[in-house]
Amino acid sequence: MKCTFPGCPGEYEDKFITHKIEQPDGVAYIDNVPAKVCGLCGDTILASETLKVIEEILKTEPT
Ligand SMILES: [Zn+2]
Repeated sequence: MKCTFPGCPGEYEDKFITHKIEQPDGVAYIDNVPAKVCGLCGDTILASETLKVIEEILKTEPT
């Protein structure tokens, strides 16, 4: 899939990333998040299902 970043000719690759989430009470990191990452500009896309899973993790995680 082609990168959606304006002017970037790159392609997204399927990768597993460490997703960083900034919250009012601190920063959370979630490892091994499946994402599409542009090899050129580093733009990252998470599937909507993935975002839902992350929300669930954040709700259940003790702070
Ligand atoms: Zn790109």
